[in-house]
Amino acid sequence: MIKDQYIKFTLPVKKSIALIAHDGKKPQLIEWVDKNKEILKHHELCGTGTTARLLSEKTGLSVKGYNSGPLGGDQQIGARITEGQINFVVFLYDPLEAQPHDPDVKALTRICAVYDIPMANNISTADFLIKSFYMDNEYEHSVVNYNANLCERIESFK
Ligand code: PGA
Repeated sequence: MIKDQYIKFTLPVKKSIALIAHDGKKPQLIEWVDKNKEILKHHELCGTGTTARLLSEKTGLSVKGYNSGPLGGDQQIGARITEGQINFVVFLYDPLEAQPHDPDVKALTRICAVYDIPMANNISTADFLIKSFYMDNEYEHSVVNYNANLCERIESFK
């Protein structure tokens, strides 16, 4: 019987960073990525389709693209988080514009909370994160023990 509710994971020095911006926020994200190019080039970058393409073209950085957000890109990124493949997110959603994929936005925000993933939703938070001591160092954090959680749930149905 697994008792521990949480297990320790380590965010590596080289982070796997997802970059996402709604249309109204894309110019801000491009400017931010360009400004922080020297730091970001030491990490692995990915993003939703349009954002990733624009960032690659405008900053010269290599940014792996998933599907466009409204076509499931946010969900793909959420899935990578659950697999431990992405461990840092900058997601500039547009609070002044309705989105067809609003549930996906909420889902991604939630999964970052579940997996204790650093997530910036505005530029000031992104600025604080990027200057953090942990950007150049490992960071140990506690994540819900899904195996224990699963065992408990199964027991509860017996
Ligand atoms: P996009 O998707 O980068 O393809 O525009 C972003 C989003 O709306 O989540």
